[in-house]
Amino acid sequence: MSADIDGRPVVPASGRLRPLGISEVEITGGFWGRRQQVNSEATIQHCHDWMERLGWVGNFRAAAEGRLPEDRNGVVFTDSDVYKLMEGTAWEVGRSGSADAEHRFADLTAVIAPAQEEDGYLNTVFGRPGQPVRYSDLEWGHELYCYGHMLQAAVARARTGRADQFVEMARRAADHVCDIFGEGGIERVGGHPEIELGLVELARVTGEERYLHQASLFIDRRGHQTLADIHWGRSYFQDDVPVREQVAFTGHSVRALYLAAAAVDVAVETGDTALLEAIIAQWDRTVARRTYLTGGMGSHHDGEKFGEDFVLPPDRAYSETCAGIASVMLCWRLLLATGEPRFADLAERTLFNVVATSPAPDGRAFFYANPLHQRVPGVVPSPDFVSHRAASSLREPWFAVSCCPTNVVRTFASLSAYLATSDDGGIQIHQYADSRISTTLGNGRRVGVEIETNYPDHGRISIRVAETDGSPWTLTMRVPEWATEAWLTNRGERKRVERGTTSVEDKFAVGDQIHLDVGMTPRLVIPDSRIDSIRGCLAVEQGPLVLCVESVDLPDGASVDDIRIDPDADLEVGREKVTAGGRLMEFEDKPWPYPETADQPESGRDVEIPLTPYHEWATRGPSTMRVWIPAATKEPG
Ligand SMILES: [Zn+2]
Repeated sequence: MSADIDGRPVVPASGRLRPLGISEVEITGGFWGRRQQVNSEATIQHCHDWMERLGWVGNFRAAAEGRLPEDRNGVVFTDSDVYKLMEGTAWEVGRSGSADAEHRFADLTAVIAPAQEEDGYLNTVFGRPGQPVRYSDLEWGHELYCYGHMLQAAVARARTGRADQFVEMARRAADHVCDIFGEGGIERVGGHPEIELGLVELARVTGEERYLHQASLFIDRRGHQTLADIHWGRSYFQDDVPVREQVAFTGHSVRALYLAAAAVDVAVETGDTALLEAIIAQWDRTVARRTYLTGGMGSHHDGEKFGEDFVLPPDRAYSETCAGIASVMLCWRLLLATGEPRFADLAERTLFNVVATSPAPDGRAFFYANPLHQRVPGVVPSPDFVSHRAASSLREPWFAVSCCPTNVVRTFASLSAYLATSDDGGIQIHQYADSRISTTLGNGRRVGVEIETNYPDHGRISIRVAETDGSPWTLTMRVPEWATEAWLTNRGERKRVERGTTSVEDKFAVGDQIHLDVGMTPRLVIPDSRIDSIRGCLAVEQGPLVLCVESVDLPDGASVDDIRIDPDADLEVGREKVTAGGRLMEFEDKPWPYPETADQPESGRDVEIPLTPYHEWATRGPSTMRVWIPAATKEPG
């Protein structure tokens, strides 16, 4: 077992940058600190309560007590949500040392352990008398998917220094998977990629090459039509075209992104640069043509899929919270492999505008889908209501398909591990938060910094050197792609810096201060004209935040759809809100909306359009909302 207990979710054997774990980076407050606290104090318990209440934890008890299939509850993959809660709980133990979280992990382990069978098999849906045969439904059965999350939970446990019974259970499950799905076994793949991520990381933790080899087999097999054709086609589970031959991410978004992240893991572990380059090319194409302004991915509700290029309708955006999280996971792996800041840029956009949007401020309700345009006000859910999934119009306490809440739990609990990296020469800061970083560089030197900032409300990031040995090292900071202006101040000298990264190499002394000031002036952005559904619209961003207009901020019940934004008016930064100039239109109803000659401009009046960070939308009750606002047309004459 590896002695690596830094608390790093991903530990590649090779790559440009070395990840720093939760024992090396601590979030101390601010935007993400508040979310970590709510996650710790409310969301973990909330998820656990719901999974007890609905019998998802009880499925394991029923398995051990021989009450299956009669007493099985929930959809086929609920085991995975228990594992994701355990992963989040394991990171929480590592992050905060919470005794409560430690007990929770131990209690869940005690419930699950007796359900594991002699040969390592573990699933509450298959294999018992009265249940379908094991691995008889690889398309929809999710057995391998559930193992993947189990393995990731075990990895979190091992990497936070607690290689306990659950880690042993995961090894037995992984051995079983290798026995059954290795060469000469069932030479197929699971319908939902995820096992690959778990296998690679468990290989890294345990040093067991066999797990890596199995992950590699799964990556190479996919795309060779070993899964049945379904009504969405095999592209739904990326089994139509081999992974390295895809052009862009396609099919079910979460599946595609977990698969791509795992392909990066396999590529960097095996030195397969062709595979790595293929994924980067697919990422580039997907970001350029298939990604929402928020960073959200997946534009089809039907099949929860990526659309074709430029199919990005704002009102029908699926943009599943899990796809946002999977995208951050992929960005992180690509950043570690290449050191290129564009991957951290997309991670930032997605964290602030998809992942942070999902949970309610109290951490007890969630968005599953994250549309950029809500046409009718949402309906306040009953606290006891189990929503199916994306039909929700406001954040819902729980879902029948509840992948997103537990994904938020594990992401927030481990978030500090996605902020910074090191190499032999110094520290690189990719995401800005009130935080403390303390690590050992490749050559054994201890270095550390403390970061204070009100980011993203303000653009000043103050970095104080807290540990150094007096020899020179390099502090590198990302200058975000959206930053129209940025300055770096070191030793009283202020200079302008360009987007990308900026570095200071110095013989730092403890107490030295470096400031990065990033301009937070709001800006209008214009969509590529090939995105039909928002042609003629504009959106406003400020710093890393996408802004939106919400009906609760409009006068007299006005609809967000009656607003037009003036492309020439200044964006004003008020005390509470950014406002844009525009018009509130008064439309005349017509019996048929397609005349042969262009309409005369409807009458309207000038208004200030108050804008809210998208991640805060629908936190003040039901409202309509839009990110993309039609531009006002000039009146003739
Ligand atoms: Zn989800």
